[in-house]
Amino acid sequence: LIEFQQVHKRYGDQPALVDINEQIHAGEVLVVCGPSGSGKSTLIRTINRLEPIQSGRILLKGQDVHRPGLDLNALRAGIGFVFQQFNLFPHLKVLENCTLAPQRLLGLGADEARDRATQLLQRVGLGHKLDARPDQLSGGQQQRVAIARALAMQPPVLLFDEPTSALDPEMVGEVLAVMQDLARDGMTMVCVTHEMGFAAEVADRLWFMDAGRVLERATPQAFFSDPQHPRARQFLREIR
Ligand code: ATP
Ligand code: MG
Repeated sequence: LIEFQQVHKRYGDQPALVDINEQIHAGEVLVVCGPSGSGKSTLIRTINRLEPIQSGRILLKGQDVHRPGLDLNALRAGIGFVFQQFNLFPHLKVLENCTLAPQRLLGLGADEARDRATQLLQRVGLGHKLDARPDQLSGGQQQRVAIARALAMQPPVLLFDEPTSALDPEMVGEVLAVMQDLARDGMTMVCVTHEMGFAAEVADRLWFMDAGRVLERATPQAFFSDPQHPRARQFLREIR
């Protein structure tokens, strides 16, 4: 579904991604982990072009996402992105947060957009909060709205950048449960997360990054029981 070919990225003269050559397959749940500053956010932000790259190619369904002239709105409409800081529209109700983009970008009619959004909000357990505003919700609820909003665009892939890191501990579980539900449903997901329990239980595959490189790719079972790279072993010692 997604292919990185010799991707390099720098911020100024500081390398952030170094020769990334990887594939992400349809239907898989991929967890990206690694120490702070290793390039995890940068990596997933290059997929929908929130960050430019200096060289190489990133293909989404065979389409070069960094090709000049590509329609950015169309690209981003096709990739769900869930941020650490929910990024909901504060002035819109929960339901409206989930109907805006499908109406504007997919051309859905108001009724259809509302039905779809209502269904998704029910799915994430927020059917009773359709008319609330984001600031009336807990962090966990806001993040579940953000997930429903992303799903409303029916993207082929959902990208998550530390979706639970900004949450109070008691709210982490409800968001991970929604993500697990999506995974069971066959959603393609790329998740940057420090939740190693989630990785162990839900991920099909895991990448370990350090200093802008993917140093290890493994099943979570293999990674946690027998990490190959010395940096991966050190990382696991530090987080345990
Ligand atoms: P964390 O776990 O702390 O979120 P990360 O693995 O997501 O870290 P990135 O945010 O991708 O790491 O950062 C990779 C490198 O690029 C780091 O050295 C970081 O300082 C640098 N970097 C990230 N964003 C920028 C930016 N906008 N301008 C300059 N340097 C940046
Ligand atoms: Mg990050």
